[in-house]
Amino acid sequence: MVKRRQKSTRRRAAEPEPTIRAWQDDPATGFLMDRPVPNLAQRPLAFSFAGPTPKPASYQPGTPEFRYWTAAEALRRGANFWAQLIPLARWQPGPVLKVLLDEGLDLNAFYDREALNFFHGPSPTGTVFSGESPDIVCHEMGHAILDSLKPQLWGAGSHEAAAFHESFGDISSIISALQLQELRTAILSDTGGHLYQSSRLSRLAEQLGAAIRAQQPDAVEPDSLRNAVNRFSYEDPINLPPMGPASQLSSEPHSFSRVFTGAFYEALGSMLAAVASNPSAPSQEELHSVANDLASILVNAIKRAPVVSNLYAQVAATMVQIAGTVNSDYPAILKGVFVKRSILSLQSATAVELVRKSMAALGPSSGEEREPLARAALSGTQYGLDRPVLIETPSHARRFAVTAAAGNADPIEPASAITAAKAFLDDLFRGGHVDYGNFGRDTRIEHGRRLRSHRLVAEDGSIRLERVLFDCGLCCR
Ligand SMILES: [Zn+2]
Repeated sequence: MVKRRQKSTRRRAAEPEPTIRAWQDDPATGFLMDRPVPNLAQRPLAFSFAGPTPKPASYQPGTPEFRYWTAAEALRRGANFWAQLIPLARWQPGPVLKVLLDEGLDLNAFYDREALNFFHGPSPTGTVFSGESPDIVCHEMGHAILDSLKPQLWGAGSHEAAAFHESFGDISSIISALQLQELRTAILSDTGGHLYQSSRLSRLAEQLGAAIRAQQPDAVEPDSLRNAVNRFSYEDPINLPPMGPASQLSSEPHSFSRVFTGAFYEALGSMLAAVASNPSAPSQEELHSVANDLASILVNAIKRAPVVSNLYAQVAATMVQIAGTVNSDYPAILKGVFVKRSILSLQSATAVELVRKSMAALGPSSGEEREPLARAALSGTQYGLDRPVLIETPSHARRFAVTAAAGNADPIEPASAITAAKAFLDDLFRGGHVDYGNFGRDTRIEHGRRLRSHRLVAEDGSIRLERVLFDCGLCCR
């Protein structure tokens, strides 16, 4: 009798929850997992997928049903993490964000304040779908998260604001992946506990990277779209070329994003080693805890940081200040990484730490970092326009007088808001990223690009520059 009852109870307890099958990270790495069925309608941060919902089940990779559920799983996992950490009540466009999993032929993906848009395209190993990669899905979702958290960055005429958005997208991919216990365990095993080395966690969007590499060999890194383990240091983007091969730093936002992403990832590795009870063999629980600490420090710094021309230095300085309230080991580690990468000058890193120590607690913010940005009218003549162009400038007051460093360690005086906006606008037109619309019909500079991040719109007799989307910048058609 007893035996039979136990057996019956065991069978009921083992009644399997419905699950779906999904990729752990990029499809190129090939690691599958079974996960509970994600609830896309869950609030806050609900999603709405176009088209019918396939019945939840374990589908084979390569099928549309598998692509649906692997994207849904990654989005729900990532959005749940950010929603509780920040916290966020809604997306910038509203309570529900549309997801368009296959918008046609392109090696691309973008966020346009209406939806997350994904595509498919050719690669040497067959067709790749950008919406099938949790790396790419969580990157695009990261744009939408940051847009909700800091909407002024959307229209800011600033290289650093645009690059920071790309960096946050990559950080969103990394942090969302780290919410998976089996991935944390695998990465620690693969790296021998030394997180800051190339791994499938640091290599982002390997599959799309391979597809683009086949068409443009120097457009992406040798092993991925971007690798968070890199040696790029800060240089004033105003003085960098507007584009270049992936091996070099340019002011193009995806390229320049690698400076901040590299610092974030390096800090993650150093913080893990500092807090692990056995620094040479951190546990997956310790990795989870440190990753969440660093993500929390980052989003709280973003909330408080003003949108200024040297945004990287402002966010970094605020991170150093906040980090001390989380763990007394963290500020020195963050200072070390930010100074090594010249995101903070030696003087700035030291001054910020002294300010922190002199404060009983972080002072209340003035609230200016939540204000809209000031607009400036810049001459449109050199772009073939007969009127000035109105552009939002990185015009907030600086919270700290902190600076990045030049190659010789000297502090770099940050550019004025108008100088930064002018340099950004120049690069947009040089790269063909602006849709002229009806303006400059006979005088425009034509690049023949199909997808553009910005457009010109009429406003009260003037021309206003407006952002349309954040894209992968890899449109190959
Ligand atoms: Zn992006």
